[in-house]
Amino acid sequence: MTELASERLTLPPTDHRPRPYDGPSKADVLAMRKQYLHPSLFTLYRDPLLIVEGHLQYVYDETGRRYLDFFAGIVTVSCGHCHPKITARIKTQVETLQHTTTVYLHPNLPLLAKKLASKMPPGLDVTYFVNSGSEANDLAMTMARLYTGNFDLVAVRNSYHGGSPGSTGLTSHSTWKYPLPQSNGVHHTFSPDPYRSPFSGTPEQIATQSVAELKDLIRFSTPGKIAGFIAEPIQGVGGVTHGAPNYLREAYEVVRGAGGLCIADEVQTGFGRTGEHYWGFQNWGVVPDMVTMAKGLGNGAAIAAVTTRAEIAQAMTQRTHLNTFGGNPVAAAAALGVLEAIDEDGLQENSRVQGARLKQGLQKLQAVHPLIGDVRGKGLMVGVELVRDRGTKTPASKETLDVLDAARAMNLLIGKGGIDGNVLRIKPPMCITSEDVDFALDVLDRALRG
Ligand code: PMP
Repeated sequence: MTELASERLTLPPTDHRPRPYDGPSKADVLAMRKQYLHPSLFTLYRDPLLIVEGHLQYVYDETGRRYLDFFAGIVTVSCGHCHPKITARIKTQVETLQHTTTVYLHPNLPLLAKKLASKMPPGLDVTYFVNSGSEANDLAMTMARLYTGNFDLVAVRNSYHGGSPGSTGLTSHSTWKYPLPQSNGVHHTFSPDPYRSPFSGTPEQIATQSVAELKDLIRFSTPGKIAGFIAEPIQGVGGVTHGAPNYLREAYEVVRGAGGLCIADEVQTGFGRTGEHYWGFQNWGVVPDMVTMAKGLGNGAAIAAVTTRAEIAQAMTQRTHLNTFGGNPVAAAAALGVLEAIDEDGLQENSRVQGARLKQGLQKLQAVHPLIGDVRGKGLMVGVELVRDRGTKTPASKETLDVLDAARAMNLLIGKGGIDGNVLRIKPPMCITSEDVDFALDVLDRALRG
């Protein structure tokens, strides 16, 4: 055992005591799910995990066993499970008024839009609320096309932007695409990720060559004018990949030169998760024309949004558009609580500090575990790519599942990503402590031993 893996593999203490669980057994839940739920639903673990309670960074199974949640309900529980302040806001709102739709006035929606505008660069101050990241990206596509009068859109290979018919077209993973018409004017440009780029050179040179490819793609595959370009500042589902700091700046210049709008998909990177900045795009020194968000905005409540400039939003007023649940009073109350909690609890700063500790620890593990090919990411959005051979970079997909299972057996939940399923995705609630990070590193050290 390395010095990293101390004898201690005990979860950090907590005062929280889970309630006794008296619901259906795990076997019954599984049987009902098999019989009555759609077979396309899948579980992360080979032996599915039943979770019945959560408190901040911890979740509990039906036996009361506690796990450290380093995946946060797929990067969604931004502030922590059942965060007391957010829960209190939801409770008050749900007891007062649950739903009206936007055809009536309610204070929560404009209050939330105003608060979001205060977090954005000047000019990005008009928001449309929906229920999911897929819907937000569909809406961004619509607005980009209406505003520019152009049809073609460019997304980046290895991206994930949603599962609706529209956003599936933006998504760039064969694993998430059905053989149905879905590209609908969308083209995919090379990913600037230096670890698996077909180009060579420094990460900055690879980024510039990737942008040259984008320029050619627009020239050869579109009418030369495009509606927009969408990119995750750090690709999430794709395995926490991103280009060198010059990539988005150079790409945005090319896109704007072709009449397109630049759309930042902040569904995973937003709300302080990347540590240094509130929004992922700020890490790369760019200002998009539209920002789409979901997941962490609600800490588990179904709310998503597109924020843009007033003149771009105006293009949609030529017809009627309504989203029945979008930003309903309860979801908006949750999101208002989230934005407050991020500030009041110092969660962005915590992401920076704990993210640095985590990454440093993982780099130490990389030095002793040949399976680790790459450690990357920012703040509390970290990816660890597992390969069978560092030279050939053959994806260690089965080994990744083994690590996931072994970590779970030691009470640590982490995620998995990448088109080959060989990237450990570590994206915990932003309220984790140094003790949690050290525990997770110890667990991973052991899990990687096989
Ligand atoms: N964009 C990104 C970057 C995502 O990670 C996801 C979900 N994984 C989506 C969009 C789609 O969000 P939803 O599942 O809420 O539709």
